[in-house]
Amino acid sequence: MTKIRKDVVIIGAGASGLMCAIEAGKRGRSTLVLDHMEKPGRKIRASGGGRCNFTNIICGPENYLSSNPHFCKSALAGFTPMDFVRMLERRGIEYCEREDGQLFCRHSAGEIAGMLQEECDRAGVEIRLRCKIGNITKNGRFSVETNIANIGADSLVVATGGLSYPELGATDIGYRIAGKFGLKVTSLKPGLSPLVFGRPDREIFGELSGVSFNATVKCAKKTFRGEVLFTHKGLSGPAILQISSCWQPGNDIVIDLAPDMDVFEFFMSKRKSRAGLDNTIAEFLPLRLSRKWCSIHASSKPLCSYSEKEYKDIERKIHNWTITPAGVEGYKIAEITCGGIDTNELSSKTMESKKIPGLYFIGEVDDVAGQLGGYNLQWAWSSGFAAGQYA
Ligand SMILES: Cc1cc2nc3c(=O)[nH]c(=O)nc-3n(C[C@H](O)[C@H](O)[C@H](O)COP(=O)(O)OP(=O)(O)OC[C@H]3O[C@@H](n4cnc5c(N)ncnc54)[C@H](O)[C@@H]3O)c2cc1C
Repeated sequence: MTKIRKDVVIIGAGASGLMCAIEAGKRGRSTLVLDHMEKPGRKIRASGGGRCNFTNIICGPENYLSSNPHFCKSALAGFTPMDFVRMLERRGIEYCEREDGQLFCRHSAGEIAGMLQEECDRAGVEIRLRCKIGNITKNGRFSVETNIANIGADSLVVATGGLSYPELGATDIGYRIAGKFGLKVTSLKPGLSPLVFGRPDREIFGELSGVSFNATVKCAKKTFRGEVLFTHKGLSGPAILQISSCWQPGNDIVIDLAPDMDVFEFFMSKRKSRAGLDNTIAEFLPLRLSRKWCSIHASSKPLCSYSEKEYKDIERKIHNWTITPAGVEGYKIAEITCGGIDTNELSSKTMESKKIPGLYFIGEVDDVAGQLGGYNLQWAWSSGFAAGQYA
């Protein structure tokens, strides 16, 4: 079997791995990136519906979930959203801002994947694809057995991402490498994922599939505002994807169906109306949802026949519609994995293992999960950049 010696071997040619490779290569380190897929950056190309929500101009530690909320600070400060924007601007890649500071490619996510590949070329980085990773050991240097060669390296960077979207290349190898070297991994679960109802709720709400509304969604002391969409299995839409990362089995989620509205005043302004409650509520909610909601929570008599106390009671229920999901959809369609390499095991400045010198973990494989809105890719860029200065 051929033997190759490199300064740095990076497993994973995704967002964090390519960024790390560029930086290590620029420092003159001989750098090899290995990936089992036939193309680098598959998730980048698929992200943001093909337009890649590559960062968010308002980005701080509060946009991330981690057992240690301070861990991400240093890397995020070391390579900021504007640093990534400047990379795009130097290459003439056009982008646009959507709501809440989200930045997307104007044309195609492929431009970012292409840019990273070209930057790797310029930095002298070698990328080997369709590479099967075998046994990894450390005896002074790291030794990585592959179908291509046995590779020796001073630094080994694990940039293998999370478990979501296996068809885009996701595997559990990063967590297995951590386990092999004695690093702890926190518990893993799908994040930014639709929620599914149990069978009874599915029977009740299944017919609302396709109905959407704007709401505030609360769970585990977190609140998100945005669209909520009924699916044939449960609930989706940006507000639900966000809250799913905070949801634990057994938790209720509380939905405010009329977040900015004084519903009691609205009823009082119509208290002489002979319209049914469901048709009245349909002035601010979709009619199908209003009918279903009234059939569960209130009788639909004419508005004029309710008392003020009843108006108050209905208002309270509208602002606090409580449902208990049965679960989240699995890794097949969850955007990210929550949990990962325990950040206590890593230096927040370099992403290097505290126990195993020369071993680095970057990107989504770490216990750092971003909210929806460009935060996960920003973590990949920032953590990859940080490790690239030291690996
Ligand atoms: C459909 C979808 C859309 C998304 N949209 C956005 C978005 O718009 N904005 C945003 O911020 N985030 C988005 N995300 C999340 C974001 O893409 C990831 O968080 C980010 O790509 C993580 O970067 P990473 O480098 O850690 O891992 P990845 O980019 O996933 O790269 C990991 C690499 O490791 C390789 N690998 C895995 N296992 C092995 C193995 N056994 N052997 C060899 N190689 C291996 C993979 O092939 C892959 O190339 C989206 C995710 C999905 C699934």
